[in-house]
Amino acid sequence: MNRPRTNRAYVAALFDLPFNDLLFQAATVHRQHFDPNAVQLSQLLSIKTGACPEDCSYCPQSARYKTGLERERLMAVESVLEKARAAKEGGATRYCMGAAWRSPRDKDVDQLVEMVKGVRALGMETCVTAGMLSETQAQRLSEAGLDYYNHNLDTAPEHYGKIITTRTYADRLDTLRAVRQAGMKVCCGGIVGLGEERKHRVGLLVELANLPTPPESVPINMLVKVPGTPLSDTPALDPIEFVRTIAVARILMPTSHVRLSAGRQQMTDELQSLCFFAGANSIFCGEKLLTTDNPGNRDAMLFAKLGLHAEPHACPAKPTEAVEAPLAELAVDEGACCDPSSGCGPSPSTSPARSAVDGLLAETVGGFIDIARRQAVRRTRRLRGAGQRD
Ligand code: SF4
Repeated sequence: MNRPRTNRAYVAALFDLPFNDLLFQAATVHRQHFDPNAVQLSQLLSIKTGACPEDCSYCPQSARYKTGLERERLMAVESVLEKARAAKEGGATRYCMGAAWRSPRDKDVDQLVEMVKGVRALGMETCVTAGMLSETQAQRLSEAGLDYYNHNLDTAPEHYGKIITTRTYADRLDTLRAVRQAGMKVCCGGIVGLGEERKHRVGLLVELANLPTPPESVPINMLVKVPGTPLSDTPALDPIEFVRTIAVARILMPTSHVRLSAGRQQMTDELQSLCFFAGANSIFCGEKLLTTDNPGNRDAMLFAKLGLHAEPHACPAKPTEAVEAPLAELAVDEGACCDPSSGCGPSPSTSPARSAVDGLLAETVGGFIDIARRQAVRRTRRLRGAGQRD
């Protein structure tokens, strides 16, 4: 039987920490497991758009809401591959294909299999999100080489019924189980700003962290308020609370990629920068997510300002200072791997400048870091009270 890794009292105490202490803890955990300046780049394509029978109240693709979205049938395999090639040239290392279905039919899975094989042949990682899967469908996708299947929990179990009524939390967990059993990696996160309370954000992160194996990829979405959807008038979530959510996700799932997902187009550079400091290390690049806007070229400028680089798996281009460059040109081929699941170890960084900075940091502020870390741990212990981490 799987033991729970965390509990709500502990996670609520993390959320309650003074902001600087929380960010310090999250950044420390981040540095222990990843290169803190590397960001994994995925690109997402809607391969079948709109007319979805589900009633997810944030989603413009539901057939139940009048959002003006144009419906599109499942794309042809070659059209998907053409766009995947362009995404690779733009710096993406993972290609994510999203279809607005409750669940795919078996003949849809035939098409998905061909897409997965084609994208893999380009040397990219693959991810699909297409609704609920049967065990057989999951097995077929796994055999085709699918690396990740995305299926979000969206929110805490007790808030879920206010957001979606056409499928249950248990349905979602069944699909996640089928994906794991088939041997694929899991991409699973949620959405904040749905009108939930902090306790629901706590509940969501506890559910994610306590999955039998935590998801390798954890997208944290900020609600994009699309006119025509039931949540279009929801009050905005405080950006600082969003950063707290990222930081707590990083602490609870230290070896997962935490992705800043939907809502980045509405975020300032400063907010995104705080999220990267708090442990976010994956984004969707490009101009579009499934149907909403994404920052596109603004990312290259932000990466240059912050000294971030693309995680180097499939990004062999050299570093450049040109802020107008596509993200691929900001990638650093360090010949090392940032992904702990690859077995290469944490936080590789072979650049002389980075090594020098790390050395200096270790010599001059190492003592301070130890003191601050002990203070933060003591404060966490005091705050979490009865909640004890397993
Ligand atoms: S989130 Fe997915 S399942 Fe829900 S309405 Fe949108 S496309 Fe359909």
